[in-house]
Amino acid sequence: MTRSITILGATGSIGVSTLDVLAQMEAKDEFEVAALTGAGNIALLAEQAVRHQAKLAVTADESRYLNLKDALAGTGVAVAAGESGLIEAADMPASMVMAAIVGTAGLAPTLAAARRGADIALANKECLVSAGELFVGAVKTGGGRLLPVDSEHSAIFQSLDPERRHAVERVILTASGGPFRTWSREQMAGVSADVARAHPNWSMGLKISIGSASMFNKALEVIEAKHLFDLEPHEIEVIVHPQSIIHSMVGYRDGSIIAQLGAPDMRTAIGYALTFPDRPALNVERLDFAKLARLDFEAPDEVRFPALRLARLALTRGGVQALTMNAAEETAFHAFCDGRIGFLDMADIAESAMEAMVDWPAANTIEDVFAADSEARRRAAEFIARKAF
Ligand code: NDP
Repeated sequence: MTRSITILGATGSIGVSTLDVLAQMEAKDEFEVAALTGAGNIALLAEQAVRHQAKLAVTADESRYLNLKDALAGTGVAVAAGESGLIEAADMPASMVMAAIVGTAGLAPTLAAARRGADIALANKECLVSAGELFVGAVKTGGGRLLPVDSEHSAIFQSLDPERRHAVERVILTASGGPFRTWSREQMAGVSADVARAHPNWSMGLKISIGSASMFNKALEVIEAKHLFDLEPHEIEVIVHPQSIIHSMVGYRDGSIIAQLGAPDMRTAIGYALTFPDRPALNVERLDFAKLARLDFEAPDEVRFPALRLARLALTRGGVQALTMNAAEETAFHAFCDGRIGFLDMADIAESAMEAMVDWPAANTIEDVFAADSEARRRAAEFIARKAF
């Protein structure tokens, strides 16, 4: 049976890997591509749309609409742009949507796809961090499946027996510790974005690479895990595992731990989400245990890396705290990349915004989510401008 797929964020790290997985699949004709979206990388988006015979190509950046139109002239691929274009892509009748836009910009189109009942392969963790219950509710009402793509959550998904949910004691998310795992705060204080983006194990987009260095990515993943697997905060643990071979684990009440292992390559998790419950044959590195020799573990240091503490605070406080942490950190991330603030300032700005928004009312509708998100960004930008955080 031919299935169709739309990739939101096709030109990014996850999007490119998704198209590679599709190209590698034995039955290549199993999936046809409905829509592909990107933002700034028009040349790649146009090339992907032609190569994969997409019906629609969308750039999120309206100012690049004509560039994309020119690049696809005479190919038969329809073209759109901006937020409405992203929604048009999400609304195409594809049975599966890969949500791989970076940041909260991915929320509205992914939500549109969920509402119409598409299966959602979810890389964009910001959907769950910003709008957890609302997003999960939209997937349930729409009738599609929610399939995790993040390697840690894919590992939990593969290790958690839904028939034995009552016997699950905890999930253990692994974290590489990033490039600054052994650095002091003094050493981290002066690093540039170029240094912070150099991840020891994974090749990823800029935002998640910097988030791995600050451990904000793990903070978002803790909140993502809560919503994906309906966990209480005390059931979610984080352990630093520098080799990134164990992608995460589930602990059961009899003391057993079930883990998923593999080389650090996102294509395995992507392939699982696309073909679940099957597994596609993939040309990825195989683990050689004799060469691996050792797997190390250490407790995360929440003093040098406060992001995990903030995630727990957000979960304990509830309301819009997780959303605020994410929106303020995203604002601070851009300021860090522009050289306006230091690496350690990102956590301080997120915490200041969380304190400032502690009494903000809970978000019961998606409009509430966007209003709180804008307010958190406004406050974070103000802290940055005043250098008060
Ligand atoms: P990238 O930065 O590599 O790619 C992001 C994609 O989103 C690109 O297609 C980009 O277009 C597009 N984009 C950028 N800004 C906007 C916008 N404002 N509106 C719409 N589209 C936009 O990110 P990653 O692939 O690394 O990550 C994507 C998501 O997946 C993130 O949420 C991340 O946390 C998650 N994830 C990523 C992993 C990884 O290994 N990379 C692992 C697990 C999760 P363009 O490039 O054309 O500008």
